Amino acid sequence: MLEKYLHAHQIEAVIIFGTAAIIYLVGAEYEAFEALAAFMEKHEALELDEAFLAVATLGIAGYIYAYRRQVERRKEIEKRLHAEDHLDWLSKHDNLTGLPNRHSLSEFVKLQEAETNNGSEKHFGLISIDLDGFKKANDLLGHTGGDKLLKEVTSRIKSHAAVNTVFRLGGDEFLVITELEKFPDTYTLAQTINAEIGKPFNIDGIINHIGASMGVSKFPIDTPILEEAIHCSDLAMYHAKRSGKKEVTEFTEAMIETNLRRSMLEQDLLSALADGHIKPHYQPLMHLASDQIRGFEALARWDRPGHGFVPPATFISVAEDIGAISDLSDQILRQACLDAKEWPGNMILTFNLSPLQLSDRMISERILNVLAETGFDPSRLEVEITESALVLDIETTTEVLKELGSAGIRIALDDFGTGFSNLSNLSKLHFDRIKIDCEFINNCSSDGKQMNIVKSILSLGKGLGMHTTAEGIEESGQLEILKELGCDCGQGFFLGHPVDACETKAFLQRHDNRYAA
Ligand code: C2E
Ligand code: CA
Ligand code: CA
Repeated sequence: MLEKYLHAHQIEAVIIFGTAAIIYLVGAEYEAFEALAAFMEKHEALELDEAFLAVATLGIAGYIYAYRRQVERRKEIEKRLHAEDHLDWLSKHDNLTGLPNRHSLSEFVKLQEAETNNGSEKHFGLISIDLDGFKKANDLLGHTGGDKLLKEVTSRIKSHAAVNTVFRLGGDEFLVITELEKFPDTYTLAQTINAEIGKPFNIDGIINHIGASMGVSKFPIDTPILEEAIHCSDLAMYHAKRSGKKEVTEFTEAMIETNLRRSMLEQDLLSALADGHIKPHYQPLMHLASDQIRGFEALARWDRPGHGFVPPATFISVAEDIGAISDLSDQILRQACLDAKEWPGNMILTFNLSPLQLSDRMISERILNVLAETGFDPSRLEVEITESALVLDIETTTEVLKELGSAGIRIALDDFGTGFSNLSNLSKLHFDRIKIDCEFINNCSSDGKQMNIVKSILSLGKGLGMHTTAEGIEESGQLEILKELGCDCGQGFFLGHPVDACETKAFLQRHDNRYAA
């Protein structure tokens, strides 16, 4: 732009000096100066020489003024161009890390496409990086600490010589581009970066463990379109993310199909949620000493049109991924409370909360709102949580459990013995019940070791003053053993399958309900 400006001024100067030269030549041709000198001599009284001197002085002053103005203008233009350059840089870079951003990536892609069309044969390795647990670290460290963490992540990524360009595409999303000719092994590079990010970060004296899920693709090997190759590394990254193992995954063709199926599942789940098509079924919880029904566990059921029943473990985790878990859970709880109000007043309703929900500070308020809305007595509700919730976010989970407990809601520790929690959690937190996972019940009649585990859990429960429920009772032999061992409650196909609200009522009618809590 500055060059253009200079060019315009050069043309102007040529025109001005050209005009002056023409005037001079015409004047010289017709001897205008001699004529003027003679005229002035003849009319001395008019003082024309002074007048001409004044005009010449004014002309020189005008030239000096014009020159100074021009220098000023030039400086202004330079400043403006500098500001425009800076604005342009800002629009293409991330302010915090200084890395090129998504806009810059689009330009890079366009440029490479143009070069490919002109015969360039550049090959790239692409690594999509998504941090795991950044949100939690950000909450813990505050915004300034979170910013420092992101800068540190950036410098760890950039520290590898093979990393040609790094883009920051979102809060905790990065894309690394390498030149395959120079560094052909993108997967090993990704693993090295993954290991670096997996090392602890010391931010203002606070040690943070985050990690990253990463996907790798190659251009033009995986696809001859660069934009698609970036999509491929993203797909591979989502696969790594879903595995929950903070690992590196290489793109494969099959991921396209899986992704398509997954998007359709997500869409169908959202429609089912909007139309209220996900319903609770109820499985009886029997008091073993009296053979009476103690209550029912609500288990979510979704009959997906054209696909049949989808296992809750599948759609619950999809709902978590797409941020629909709270709405889904509220909907199931609301319906379950309304159904349970039709049961005898001494029956409890047990309800599952996913680990992710227990990291949500608003969860107790949501549950209490549903109870108030439906008029269901909090003392009849038992919330089941798994040990993974304690591992995921022990502070928030402890707070939530306290709030629920003080509202009169009971808490059960589900799938006991299969998670990673330690026994100290059992003494620190208050649980009303532990549910022994079906894995231990399955073979307890034939496997002495399993039997001993069941016995130990039962005595642990007794020692800590907690009720115990054995899950997955499928045979009469297992039931008899559990009765003998003094287990409080039992649940399993042998005692009753999960059925809908209508069949639950029929089940209740077939039983004599004299259970007294
Ligand atoms: P869970 O809470 O451990 O639920 C018990 C699971 O064991 C249920 O599977 C039930 O159908 C199954 N089951 C019951 N008796 C037997 C038996 O005798 N043998 C065997 N092999 N299995 C038995 P389901 O309904 O497929 O649920 C699986 C998991 O999905 C549940 O495990 C729970 O963690 C989750 N889930 C179900 N509904 C919900 C919900 O509304 N919210 C949340 N967050 N999770 C839910
Ligand atoms: Ca459960
Ligand atoms: Ca369970």
